[in-house]
Amino acid sequence: MKINESIQCSIKNCVHHAQDENYCTLNKIKVGTHESNPTTKECTDCDSFVIK
Ligand code: SF4
Repeated sequence: MKINESIQCSIKNCVHHAQDENYCTLNKIKVGTHESNPTTKECTDCDSFVIK
């Protein structure tokens, strides 16, 4: 799998994670929110996440 050095990520439970290194392998990701008024980083989500 080719890592995307522009997208660091530590979510090894995601099918797109490089596993050996803490990077995503997608060319791009979508970041979103589950809140109506996001105010902290905990309000943000990687919408490209897919459970492994
Ligand atoms: S899709 Fe999102 S959660 Fe999955 S490895 Fe890439 S950045 Fe991480």
